[in-house]
Amino acid sequence: MSKRNFETEAIRTQMERTQFLEHSSPLYLTSSFVFDDAEDMRASFAEEKERNIYSRYSNPNSNEFVDKVCKMEGAEAGFAFASGMAAVFSTLAALLESGDHILSAGKIFGSTHSLFNNYFPKWDISHSYFEIDDFDSIDRLVTATTKLIYAESPTNPGVDILDLEELGKIAKRHNLILVIDNCFASPYLQRPIKFGADLVIHSGTKLMDGQGRVLAGITVGNVELIDKIYRFSRITGPALSPFNAWVLSKSLETLAIRVDRHCENALKVAQFLEGHEKTNWVKYPFLKSHPKYEVAKKQMKAGGCVVAFEINGGLEAGRNFFDKIQLLSLSANLGDSRSIVTHPASTTHSKLTQKERLISNISDGLIRISVGLEHADDIILDIQQALV
Ligand SMILES: *Cc1c(COP(=O)(O)O)cnc(C)c1O
Repeated sequence: MSKRNFETEAIRTQMERTQFLEHSSPLYLTSSFVFDDAEDMRASFAEEKERNIYSRYSNPNSNEFVDKVCKMEGAEAGFAFASGMAAVFSTLAALLESGDHILSAGKIFGSTHSLFNNYFPKWDISHSYFEIDDFDSIDRLVTATTKLIYAESPTNPGVDILDLEELGKIAKRHNLILVIDNCFASPYLQRPIKFGADLVIHSGTKLMDGQGRVLAGITVGNVELIDKIYRFSRITGPALSPFNAWVLSKSLETLAIRVDRHCENALKVAQFLEGHEKTNWVKYPFLKSHPKYEVAKKQMKAGGCVVAFEINGGLEAGRNFFDKIQLLSLSANLGDSRSIVTHPASTTHSKLTQKERLISNISDGLIRISVGLEHADDIILDIQQALV
């Protein structure tokens, strides 16, 4: 049979049916699994059999979620985590040795920044940040101990775009592992493995769940790297709960249709903001004014759910905007069916120093909107009344 399309795999990738012939996947809320006899147990632990032993290692619901995301990303294997940050930490901790060096994009998620800056140095794992607009700097920053390149596109919260194909070539030239956090795009909009990524990380908490209910993370990619990550994780215990895996696998059935509408609404919001006198600038990957519009078009199917803009009038105007917003939620999540506004300087990136924030292009007036699935007219009306 020919390869099925994304939407079909999202809906039809399902664990084996039980004797009850259920249509929808059941929930295996069990911490462990039983063995027939001593020999079955021995062979299972010796990994002579592929089967579930204990839910810290694997579980039918996590396996279904992993299988589905592997198909979506075109990956060989994967492992599911309790949160996106558990995925980021465990992936890197499993692959890096003391003395290794990470070459990372300067613009990355706030907690990932903190991990690189405040915790990895404890184990003598160092990092350098490259400018996302100057890939030549990567060649200069590579050292004998550099093991991997780490990046996100679009970035959080600035919605900058990195050319993944170029990054893939650079990683290959230096023989480095390329790790891409693909959370902002979702596998529906962008598949980094096609451009040379070895591993793709997601926070399942965002577009994958899409309804603001569960925390989750996942890493998919090269089977040998995933095996190392699996071995590290089955010992250290960051596994996803079966319940959250079940919720997520259901959510992924509607990922394509949801993300299509997110993108349609976000483009309308971006176009509205771009024409507004109270904004200094607006950034959305599929606006022609985005500095990397052509790259975004090349590597993404649509622009995603996040629009960033700078309000005219700085901190005071920003505060005023947040106080006036009625429909949109003031919250820290994104990719939710409910539209959300955040102020990165005082929330997600508040742990960074002013200097680190500036490197990440986070000004005091920067506002990030995760455009949800409400009617676009209502979202725009609320933003409009808050901007006066
Ligand atoms: C939210 C987020 C994470 C962390 O995910 P959690 O599920 O909150 O732990 C990592 N990377 C990016 C880009 C994110 O937006």
